[in-house]
Parts: sequence; C-alpha cells; structure tokens
Amino acid sequence: MNVIIIGSGFAGLSSAAILASKGYNVRVIEKHNQIGGRARQFNKKGYNFDMGPSWYWMPDVFDQFFNQFQKSTKDYYELLKLDPGFQIIFEDQKNLVVPAQFEKLESLFNEIEPGSSKMLKKFMKEAEFKYSFGMSSVVFQPGISWMEFCKLDLFKNVFRLQILSSYKSHVAKYFKHPKLRALLEFPVLFLGTAPKDTPALYSLMAYSGLIQGTFYPMGGFHQVIKGMGKLCVDLGVSFNLGQNVEEIEIKDSKVYGVKTKTKSYLTDILIGSADYHHIENNLLPKNFRNYSENYWSKKTFSPSCLLFYLGINKKLKKIIHHNLFFDANIEQHIDEVYSKKIWPKNPLFYACCPSKTDPFTAPQNKENIFLLIPITPGLDDSKDLRDHYFNIILKRLEDYCGENISDFIEYKKDYCINDFIHDYNAYKGNAYGLANTLFQTANFKPSIINKKLPNLFYTGQLTVPGPGVPPSLISGQIVAKHISENFPLS
Ligand SMILES: Cc1cc2nc3c(=O)[nH]c(=O)nc-3n(C[C@H](O)[C@H](O)[C@H](O)COP(=O)(O)OP(=O)(O)OC[C@H]3O[C@@H](n4cnc5c(N)ncnc54)[C@H](O)[C@@H]3O)c2cc1C
Repeated sequence: MNVIIIGSGFAGLSSAAILASKGYNVRVIEKHNQIGGRARQFNKKGYNFDMGPSWYWMPDVFDQFFNQFQKSTKDYYELLKLDPGFQIIFEDQKNLVVPAQFEKLESLFNEIEPGSSKMLKKFMKEAEFKYSFGMSSVVFQPGISWMEFCKLDLFKNVFRLQILSSYKSHVAKYFKHPKLRALLEFPVLFLGTAPKDTPALYSLMAYSGLIQGTFYPMGGFHQVIKGMGKLCVDLGVSFNLGQNVEEIEIKDSKVYGVKTKTKSYLTDILIGSADYHHIENNLLPKNFRNYSENYWSKKTFSPSCLLFYLGINKKLKKIIHHNLFFDANIEQHIDEVYSKKIWPKNPLFYACCPSKTDPFTAPQNKENIFLLIPITPGLDDSKDLRDHYFNIILKRLEDYCGENISDFIEYKKDYCINDFIHDYNAYKGNAYGLANTLFQTANFKPSIINKKLPNLFYTGQLTVPGPGVPPSLISGQIVAKHISENFPLS
C-alpha cells in the first residue's frame, strides 16, 4: 500500500519510519532540498547554524522512538548532558546558573529563598507523577474519542494531574521569590502560552528541564534529523526533495494523489505533515476541509520569533551555551506577546551559543550565536523592525558581557514571520504551532483525521499532542499507528 507524506520535519519522518517498518511503501515529498523542516541547518563562512530547535528535553521520547527499531540514539548521534543546563540573566544583571545535579539545585534554591528546597522536592515529586502518567499513555492518544481517556483513568486522576488549575498560581503556592518563580515558569513558555493560561499539569515540563536535564546532540540538533533520515532510507522510504506539493487530487471522495509543479504522484494514503492550515486551505478544495478560516483565526497560536544567526570573530566571556535574558520586565513582555499581541517594547530574549560546547558549530576562537525574541504571530515584519530589535538586544548582550561584540560580527542573518510563511507555509508565520491551553489540549486539537476524506491524515505540531520536537516525534507515531490499525496490510 502506498503512503505519501507531505513534509520531512520530525513528525513526517517519524510517521515515515514507522509505516515503512511495517511494510508500507512510503514516499516523503519535501519542499526544501534538505530534510528537517524547522530543524534544518545551514553553513556560512565556516559556521554551522541550527535553524530551529536547540533545547533537547524529554530524552526518553527520543530513546523510545529509536528503540522501536532496535536502535538507540547512540547509533546516530552523541548526546551530551549540559552542566550547567542554562543560565538566566535578571534585571539586576545577576545571573542564575542552573546546575545539572539536583543536590546543587536544592542548594541554589535555599540560597535564594531559605528552606525552599523542601518545596522544590515536593513540587518535583508531583511533576514527576504528571510526567510519567502523561508520557506513558496520555500523549500517545490520537485525540479522536473521549473514551480514550476513560480507559486511562484520566478522570480519576484529574485533580492529581491539576488539569483545571493555572500553572502560575501553582508555582506561586510553592515559591515566593520572583527569581525562583521565573525559573519554574520559563519551561512552560515553550508550550506557547502565558503561565497563567497554562494548566498546572505542565509542571511536567519543569520536571523534564530541571530534573532530567538539558542535553545537546554533538554536531547540532540537525544530527537528530540526519539520524532519522538515515533510518528512513534504511527502512526503504523514498524521498523527493525540492518538490512543493501544490494540490491534493481527489476522485470519488478519496485522495487520489498529489501534484507538484513538475509531477503527479498517486497514493492510497496521504499524510499532511506540513502546517495543518496550509494543507487544508491551500491544497484542498473548500468542501473537503475540516475547519474554516474562522476556526483558525480564533485559535491561540504559540509565539513566532525574530531570530538572528551570528558568527562572531572572537570568544565571548560571560555567556554559556543557553542564556535566557530576563533582564527586562517579564510580565510586560508576556502581556505584550500573549495578550496585547503587539511587538514587545523591551523584549526578553534567548541567546544560544553552541560553540561553547561544540567546535563543529564555529571556526576556532570564534563564536556561533543565535538570538531569539518570542513575538506574536501575524505581526508586521519589516527590515526596519528587525534592525531596531537587533540593536536593542545586541546592546543588552554587550552590556551583560561587558565587551564590544558589534565590531566582531562577521556573519549575520535575520529570520522572522515572513520567512516562516515563505519557507514553511506557516499560518501567520507561526514558529511553534498551537499553544497548549486547556481548550487546545488533546481532543480539542485539530483532528489527525480528515472527516470527509477517509484516506487523508494530519500530523505535526498543529495537531496532537502539541508544539516542540518531542511532541512532533510522538505525533508522527500516533498517526502511523492509526493508519496501520485502520488500513492493515493483508
Ligand atoms: C526557532 C525555533 C526554535 C525552536 N526551539 C525548540 C527547542 O529548543 N526545542 C523543541 O523541542 N522544539 C523547538 N522548536 C519547535 C520544533 O522545532 C517544532 O515543533 C518541530 O520541529 C515541528 O516539526 P513538524 O514536523 O511538525 O514541522 P516542520 O518541521 O515545519 O515540518 C514540516 C515540513 O513540511 C514542509 N512543507 C511545507 N509545505 C509543504 C508543501 N506544500 N510541499 C512539501 N513540503 C512542504 C516544510 O518545508 C517542512 O520541512 C523550535 C522551533 C523554532 C522555529
């Protein structure tokens, strides 16, 4: 049976590998000449830049993926646990360096808020329960019927999982000091919404980031993609790169094939792993779409971002691999990005410097840095705005480092909303998909099945279980399982 997958990001590759291993004849059609989607990599002037993900959290999800094929991550890339995991720079210009070992983290908590290590233990014990309950079963559900959750005792555990309370007030119950609150709230910003609008269930993110730790695949995040690509090829998956799918062809109320500019491909089953909105609104006739434009306009999207990839012709002293610049008003930034939906006046930003860990990413004695400002999707994007924000955050980076950086920039590339639209056909230029609010979790997400075409399915960061690399890896497995159960090979 032939399966075509549109897109070769984590979700597309994940579903491709599983279905090929079960004997389906799988073809991936990808717009770019390189696989990986948001996790592509480019090389300029001797610098190797990962374009997207840099935080490797939830390592068990990657292990679980490769183990299904009797492989391990070690067969494809070398994983390093970062110590310290990351640092946060606050408004007083002091940095909070987050260690990898729990005992050291406890001491750090006690230094900042005497006695708080006890509360940290309690907080993390609850978070561990949520993580193991969630990862062992909930996140792997296809989100098609609420019966899935009855089977899992979800309703019995609803209070323990704290699905109905807010993460911000949950953290506030445990800790008073604003720095500790910021440290524990930061991980849920990955889920795309303000901590006050995120269910307390997601303290599981803090468990992953602070207890399991922050990892780094040597050679960059793209090594994970390369590993998955190799696995797919070994399993017999065919790739057509540099082919933008322009139309889904339908005959007798079924998908019949897809068309690119130069070719048509026939298929029995189609999986759309490109942005869900794009598959529906640009490739399908209106009467076969699951959702209207109005539906999408009401959804809460995770932030987009303004990115700068920089090659610096010297080593920098005060930054480490992961640096969160919370040296401006955090509440104001969150309010501007998530509620007011305007360009933040004085933004928080993230500086990733992989050359602190990995010589592959920059020439000797030089630094590879990317700077990221989270912003609301759909904002105006212009060269002037990009330059304006670059000057603001570069000055703050220089102030913190206490050294001149601007004169040492030998490579600079900016990337923002218009690029996300152009490169990924991303709705409003979103970077990370749909936010995990309560009413956009599990069965409330856009469905993996097309309700009008029995052989069209969706996967990726806009459907279950949500945004980020581990969820996208899981999403591909969910759709592959659903297909293998409903279209078994004879
Ligand atoms: C800057 C940035 C930083 C991030 N940081 C992290 C992080 O640190 N940790 C983390 O876990 N997650 C992070 N994320 C999120 C994570 O990268 C994504 O959630 C994940 O990669 C999404 O994978 P996907 O397969 O759903 O989509 P994509 O990677 O977007 O894959 C979809 C693919 O479809 C292709 N495509 C689109 N339209 C067509 C078409 N018409 N025809 C053919 N192909 C098409 C695209 O080219 C793309 O390759 C980050 C994302 C960004 C953008």
